[in-house]
Amino acid sequence: MKILKKKHKLCLICMEEHEVQTVEIEESDINEELSFLAVYEYCDRADELLETEEMIRKNSDSLKASRQSK
Ligand SMILES: [Zn+2]
Repeated sequence: MKILKKKHKLCLICMEEHEVQTVEIEESDINEELSFLAVYEYCDRADELLETEEMIRKNSDSLKASRQSK
C-alpha cells in the first residue's frame, strides 16, 4: 500500500475529523489474470478502506485499461 496524500478532513469511515490518507493498492483479478492500481481513502483508526464515487470511476477505468493492454 502506497500513500499518495494525507488530508485533515471529515472521515467518511469513522465520521470524525482526522488525517485521511489517499492510498494506492495493487489489485489483482485471479480469474482474469490481471492486476491494476486502485486508489482508495484509508482510515487508520478503523483500518478500513473507502472508495468514493470518483475513485470507483477511476478504478473501473484502470481495470478496463488493464484488460485492454493484456
Ligand atoms: Zn476515520
